[in-house]
Amino acid sequence: MYRIIIILILLIILYFLLRSAFREFGTRTQERLPKPKDQMVQDPVCRVFVPRGSAVTEVIGGQTYCFCSQGCATTFQRQMTG
Ligand SMILES: [Zn+2]
Repeated sequence: MYRIIIILILLIILYFLLRSAFREFGTRTQERLPKPKDQMVQDPVCRVFVPRGSAVTEVIGGQTYCFCSQGCATTFQRQMTG
């Protein structure tokens, strides 16, 4: 009789372990496929990575560049124009 209870408890523990493992797997796949807004872009001036959603974007010479701040954007424009 006790053996059945032990097996049941083990099954419940196994169920919870598997459930948490699947939940962890789910969040990992979400991290692997970030939304375009959360995608990390590199600042060409200071080499810092910033999320696309909060980055300062500037279109220079028909190409879009992402910067961590407006200061880096102006520095880059100054470098481009000479
Ligand atoms: Zn920067």
